Amino acid sequence: DVGRIEVITGPMFSGKSEELIRRLKRARIARQRVACFKPDIDLRYHRTAISSHSSQTHEAETVANVERLRDSLYPQLHEVEVIGLDEAQFFDDSIIPLAVELVHVGKRVILAGLDTTFNAEPFGPIPAIMAIADEVTKLSAVCMVCGSPAIHTQRLGSSQELVVVGAAGMYEARCRACFQPFVDEN
Ligand code: ADP
Ligand code: ZN
Repeated sequence: DVGRIEVITGPMFSGKSEELIRRLKRARIARQRVACFKPDIDLRYHRTAISSHSSQTHEAETVANVERLRDSLYPQLHEVEVIGLDEAQFFDDSIIPLAVELVHVGKRVILAGLDTTFNAEPFGPIPAIMAIADEVTKLSAVCMVCGSPAIHTQRLGSSQELVVVGAAGMYEARCRACFQPFVDEN
């Protein structure tokens, strides 16, 4: 059995979670067993589900790290056909060999995650997974300044932390022209 690695990427608000949820629901309609995980860092809305900004949801298990993901997945692996991972940019690089392992035992692995940080730099393991994926879907959002297709995630305000979670209104989707990279004023 040969599986498949699918990546759904793009900036915030581009519909990555929505698309992941859509694919997982279709897999279930096809009577495939689905397991969905997300890293601990995503505290948006639910701890037991993934959810989109348009409030669609799909059940998911929150895991602290890739090791815990492995611990949870492997005992049920024989009965799972499709594995969904949301906010995958927050997993460390060990998600890459795990995805490769899973595809070699015939699993369909679907990862949704940001391709770039608010500084427009490659985000965590996503670019490397895009390189080895069978299929990459790069979505755009709508620029919140001008309405053009947006590929960037703009952080509003001055926080320098890579991860600011649960802060509504902290991010906007922006096109290339409207995106303003973070400038360290110190
Ligand atoms: P992501 O997972 O990429 O952050 P979601 O799937 O959570 O995206 O949310 C996508 C939904 O967000 C859209 O279907 C739309 O309802 C809503 N939305 C809000 N702002 C925007 C925007 N600027 N561009 C596109 N969609 C937006
Ligand atoms: Zn714009």
